[in-house]
Amino acid sequence: MKLLFLGSPGVGKGTYAQVLTEVLRIPQISTGDLLREEVKKETTLGKNINEIMIRGELVPDDIMIKLIKNRMSQKDCQNGFILDGFPRTLNQAEGLKDIVKIDHVLNFKANDEVIIERLSGRITCKKCSTIYHKTGNKPKKEGVCDKCGGELFERDDDKLASVKNRLDIYKKKTKPLIDYYTKEGLLVEITINKPISEIREKVITKINDYLCGKTKKIGEIN
Ligand code: AMP
Repeated sequence: MKLLFLGSPGVGKGTYAQVLTEVLRIPQISTGDLLREEVKKETTLGKNINEIMIRGELVPDDIMIKLIKNRMSQKDCQNGFILDGFPRTLNQAEGLKDIVKIDHVLNFKANDEVIIERLSGRITCKKCSTIYHKTGNKPKKEGVCDKCGGELFERDDDKLASVKNRLDIYKKKTKPLIDYYTKEGLLVEITINKPISEIREKVITKINDYLCGKTKKIGEIN
């Protein structure tokens, strides 16, 4: 199954993708993680995009399309994947259409207040990219990943100024994708009204039911 997760930064789509990849046995492709890998490895690409990412701006479309094409050609994507963070512009969506046919686009929604609070408290594992939260979804031991023991850190682009910039860019460049995928007949709306820690299981069950054909829509989850 080829899934695409849309939604503002910090809405929780990465967290839900991480859980669903285990349920559905397909990989999560997070373009943010792919780019952070490049930065960590200090490749030429990594050096060029580091500043862009810290400012919360978008990496150019041609680079992103090449990166995603390369990732999708790998063996583990044969039975499908969850795209998380790509596409982020109409240009990228057109590029994706030339590469693969997506089955469902899940659009996650939550209000700005919830998102800013969540993003500014987010901590991520340096090793396996698992996402935690300083107040909600805390690791068992402070600063240490439950899954792999890796060190947890706050991403530079999760600092407040950058968060606001990312939200603005999302509204300008990525939101038009909602219309785009509605017209393509692929869009499924999910409105999350509670913190992830309280609602996670419910969200996963509802998504699963939808993907299995048990329900025709998802809508609001309280
Ligand atoms: P994320 O982890 O998805 O929040 O992405 C972190 C940062 O990586 C973004 O703020 C952008 O700078 C960059 N990025 C990730 N995905 C894309 C994309 N599809 N197009 C452009 N830039 C991206």
